[in-house]
Amino acid sequence: MPTTTPTTPSLTNDIAEVLINEAQIKQRVAELGAAINKDFAGEQVLIIAVLKGALLFLADLMRHVDLPLAVDFLAVSSYGAGTQSSGVVRILKDLDESIEHRNVIIVEDIVDSGRTLDYLLRMLRQRHPATLHVCTLLDKRDRREIDVPIDYVGFEVPDAFVVGYGLDYGEHYRQLPFIGVLKPEIYQ
Ligand code: 5GP
Repeated sequence: MPTTTPTTPSLTNDIAEVLINEAQIKQRVAELGAAINKDFAGEQVLIIAVLKGALLFLADLMRHVDLPLAVDFLAVSSYGAGTQSSGVVRILKDLDESIEHRNVIIVEDIVDSGRTLDYLLRMLRQRHPATLHVCTLLDKRDRREIDVPIDYVGFEVPDAFVVGYGLDYGEHYRQLPFIGVLKPEIYQ
């Protein structure tokens, strides 16, 4: 039988502090699912997940959504391999489906300056959804530059660069089951 630990030890070594552990994520994601079930009772929803950071969050959240549900994906450029937003949002992959007359919920990993979400909201509003809501796992509220409406927030996080549970640094750390602060020496 394999005796390896469940979390890659070499990746865990790069984490200064675990901000939100696995159990906390699990409980909060279930609460968010329950809130969506309540707010959209009797309706169908289209969840639009923003790749790639929202991947794990989406997979767990949708297991708690007890409504007729469709999923589509958007991929946008954000930080590349750095930790600062360029402020320029580029669509790398657009939606496969029309959102016209549908109840859309955007599922994001983290809202930081708000630039990405502001751009996406403006783009999607032009496509005439019936309703447009936002669900983000993490909210770095102190860093907000553009005021964006957010309907569901998993956790508020401080101004630190976080990785894990889908969030990366240079494509690494996405598979960590918790949200942790990356040691500054990793990116400085
Ligand atoms: P915003 O446009 O709100 O400044 O940034 C949103 C995007 O930046 C997120 O979807 C995410 O990809 C990235 N981002 C912002 N803060 C962090 C962070 O602390 N860690 C990681 N891994 N990505 C972040």
